[in-house]
This record gives sequence, C-alpha cells and structure tokens, in this order.
Amino acid sequence: MKQLLSEQELRDGVGRLAREITRDYGVRPITIVGILTGSLVLLADLIRQLDMPIRVGLVQASSYRGPNTTPGELSINFDMLSDVEGREVLLVDDIFDTGHTLEQVTSQLSEKQPASIRSVVLLRKANRREVSLSPDYVGFDIPNVFVVGYGLDYNDQYRNLPHVATLDPADLGAVEQDSS
Ligand code: 5GP
Ligand code: MG
Repeated sequence: MKQLLSEQELRDGVGRLAREITRDYGVRPITIVGILTGSLVLLADLIRQLDMPIRVGLVQASSYRGPNTTPGELSINFDMLSDVEGREVLLVDDIFDTGHTLEQVTSQLSEKQPASIRSVVLLRKANRREVSLSPDYVGFDIPNVFVVGYGLDYNDQYRNLPHVATLDPADLGAVEQDSS
C-alpha cells in the first residue's frame, strides 16, 4: 500500500472545497446529501467547515466493484432522505470514476424537484468519465489507480485510514485471502 494523499493534504483539500462552496452559496441554506458509504468521512469533515444553515440527508448507492470490473447495476435507496422539494441540494461522494453513480443519483433526485442540484467529490480519476455530467467541486484529480482510505474501501476494509492510499494487485490478493 502506498500513500497518495496525506492527512494534511486532505485537510487542505477539504478546506479548499468548503471555501469554493461558500463562495457560491454564501449564506443560502443547503441540503447536503451524502452518498453512502464512501462519502461518510468527507461528509463529516466538510460540514464542519461550512457556516451556512445546512441540513444533512443520506442516500445509499450500491455499486461496489473491484478494481478491474465494469460498472454493474446501481440501486439507489432514498429512504434516509427527507423532503428536498424546493431546496438547494449538494450531493457529496467519495470519488468520481465513470460518473454513472453521480449521474444516476442526480437524475433520480431531480424527480423530487429540488431547486438545484450540485455535486462535490473528494477525488476524480483521470480519463474515466462516461457520462455528460461533471462534478461541480473536485478535491483532487488522481490517476486511474484503485484507492482506499478516508471513507473508501476495499471489501469493506480500510475506510478508517486517515490518508488515501493506492492498493496494488499484490495487496488486493492479500486482502482476498484475509477475508476468506
Ligand atoms: P462511478 O459510478 O463514478 O464509476 O464510480 C463511483 C463509485 O465507485 C464510487 O462512489 C466508489 O464507491 C467506487 N469506486 C470507484 N473507484 C474507486 C476506487 O479507486 N476505490 C474505491 N474504494 N472505490 C471506487
Ligand atoms: Mg460510492
């Protein structure tokens, strides 16, 4: 495992995101909607850097996949989200890879008639986008590598790493053996 982003870099990046969001929304109330589970750590750190009135909602998008597979079916659970009609929604996700997750959450959420929907992601992978949508706020652009930590998992492990690390194929094999 190799460190890609240190705790300090992540802190600085989240501070930068909070300033950009504040610059755009000012003191307007927003509803922050975290996409579970990967966004948990960013969500917790980001909301504490925001001063406008905020509500927090959660949705669960289950699309987990390994490093070498293609996007699968995505199921989105809105049970943990209160009414967003007429509200300014800011979606929070851990990573923008192909973009299918963010696009499908955005499109299903728009049926609930919020006043606006924007999105913030901690990480964006280079040259992977397969949808027209782009996130409005991006913490870090990273190469096309599989990353864990700061909310991101591999087989439900490593979410608690305080930094972001890359896993190489040898590490992936080791995890599979551990969990079997
Ligand atoms: P997308 O729909 O943009 O292709 O993928 C977004 C989702 O795939 C993320 O929310 C995340 O759950 C998962 N994902 C994509 N790349 C990675 C990665 O490098 N590491 C981990 N842990 N998850 C990833
Ligand atoms: Mg995710």
